[in-house]
Amino acid sequence: MNLEGRCLCGGVRFEVTEPFLRTGVCHCEFCKRISGGYGTVSGRANTAAIHVLEGAELLTSYTPAGGSAKTFCSVCGSNLFGGGWPDSETSSVRLPSFGLEYDRKPEQHTFVRSVAEWEILPDDGLPRYDVRP
Ligand SMILES: [Zn+2]
Ligand SMILES: [Zn+2]
Repeated sequence: MNLEGRCLCGGVRFEVTEPFLRTGVCHCEFCKRISGGYGTVSGRANTAAIHVLEGAELLTSYTPAGGSAKTFCSVCGSNLFGGGWPDSETSSVRLPSFGLEYDRKPEQHTFVRSVAEWEILPDDGLPRYDVRP
């Protein structure tokens, strides 16, 4: 099962060649700031299973103090990878990169201690963790 993802402008295309180890919604403050929303929704994969097919030269990374590298398309700003990609053993891949075709629900909510007043945490029955489980 190869999942093919892309950024908003289409300049970066990549594939993930192994099933995700886990998936989840992260509500930490970093994820809110980089997403412009409630947080990031990601699948965790072995970094070796993430292959950039096109537009590697467009990728740019930012590592916040106390956090891991987050990687964006420098043209359109789409947040594609986190968790220290490409130098970490496992990395996060943002599920919105796969578009509406990706049809599996995330498995958990993490960093719910950082849910903001303006943020709505869905009543979806998924386990919630104050930080990372
Ligand atoms: Zn782009
Ligand atoms: Zn986060």
